[in-house]
Amino acid sequence: MAYNPQVVDAKIVSNNPKNGLFEVVTQLKDRTVCRLTFGKDAAGVAVPTHISRLLKEPCPVCRKDFLCNCMSRYKETISSQALSLTGTP
Ligand SMILES: [Zn+2]
Repeated sequence: MAYNPQVVDAKIVSNNPKNGLFEVVTQLKDRTVCRLTFGKDAAGVAVPTHISRLLKEPCPVCRKDFLCNCMSRYKETISSQALSLTGTP
């Protein structure tokens, strides 16, 4: 079964203009909440470096309610949807 994450809400929760790092908390349609960490490349384009699932709901992929790495497979999809909502700070 392919998991198809759909971002319904995204918020920039921290931003450091000095080093280009920022964090976005995103809510998915299935109520999964993830925190994404971004850096910027030499051209100033946001690059997702890390994703972690906040432990509010079981993982939508493996159903664990503790730490797992499933969301890392969807880092690119979730981060591009999140950035289309928040823009790049
Ligand atoms: Zn999982």
